[in-house]
Amino acid sequence: MQKIGTTINLSAGDLVGHLNCHFLTELDLKVANGELAKPKIWDPVLETLAERGAQHEQGFLDHIKAGGFTVTVIDGVGIDDAALTTTRQAMERGDAVIVQGALQAGRWNGRADVLRRVETPSRLGSWSYELTDTKLARETKGNTILQISLYSDMLSRIQGADAVSAYVVAPGTNYVPEEYRIADYAAYYRHVRSSLERAVDTPTAVSTYPEPIQHCDICRWRKHCDGKRRADDHMSLVAGINKSQIGELERHGVATMAALAELPVPLQWRPDRGAARSYERIREQARIQVEGRIAGTILYESLPSEAGLGLCRLPEPSGGDIFFDYEGDPWVGDGGLEFLRRDSAVRR
Ligand code: SF4
Repeated sequence: MQKIGTTINLSAGDLVGHLNCHFLTELDLKVANGELAKPKIWDPVLETLAERGAQHEQGFLDHIKAGGFTVTVIDGVGIDDAALTTTRQAMERGDAVIVQGALQAGRWNGRADVLRRVETPSRLGSWSYELTDTKLARETKGNTILQISLYSDMLSRIQGADAVSAYVVAPGTNYVPEEYRIADYAAYYRHVRSSLERAVDTPTAVSTYPEPIQHCDICRWRKHCDGKRRADDHMSLVAGINKSQIGELERHGVATMAALAELPVPLQWRPDRGAARSYERIREQARIQVEGRIAGTILYESLPSEAGLGLCRLPEPSGGDIFFDYEGDPWVGDGGLEFLRRDSAVRR
């Protein structure tokens, strides 16, 4: 997200961020408007993923070159006039493969992994381009679909002809691209895109809350948001609580972990969703955490054994018991390993 004059320019990263978290859009908008500093994070896992992503992309390019294609690489990073002009010239020449092509249409811009020439007429001539994206994920999810839809949309507007399909190259596939028909996802793409455009053009006075989600693991704002949750003593800090329980508790006037720890049990009201017992359980969890916080240590309590639950479901021990520990690593080699190692131990 970048403010040029009075316009907020947007990228695929902003679109994916918005899909995952509207609070992220709010924070990025504040950075673009100069109201907040952009956080700096160093994360070795993300760096490793970026490195592997670059290796995978390079592997795909080597594969293309080995197939006899000439590859035009657009230098630099980000979007500037030089990159846009060089990309445009390569497209007008009809180059077979354009790597890191700089695309811009209206307020949207980005660098496309690979643009491949197809023999469909466009305003460029008797040819046009379609996108190929290299991705580390083995399953193509909403994030990727949105990205390829955005790049294909920009491409279509630039060349004046629809980029009908886009392709995703995942690891462990011998670089065989998976085809996606862009029109199949057009409504979904338009919906998320206009939601983001509305969010930046007419920010509402009511702020969303940074509820923890999976995307937080890779988000540059995670320290900021974690700090806010702790400052607010937000109920998401209670281990094992879920979003619908937080919502229901808030409707009953419970707003913090400390308040939850003091909730009268048995529960004085009937939950709309879930059993009263599940609320009593998280109330107890909150109580232990708050007591631990006051004591300055991590406390725990053993739950009473209940027949048919937890470890009670295990069969009676026998001298011949064998334990297996299966571990996998999705990032090993090209295709990952579902089972990396097998340990066994005889229980005494
Ligand atoms: S850290 Fe999580 S809650 Fe905060 S902006 Fe990022 S994704 Fe949203």
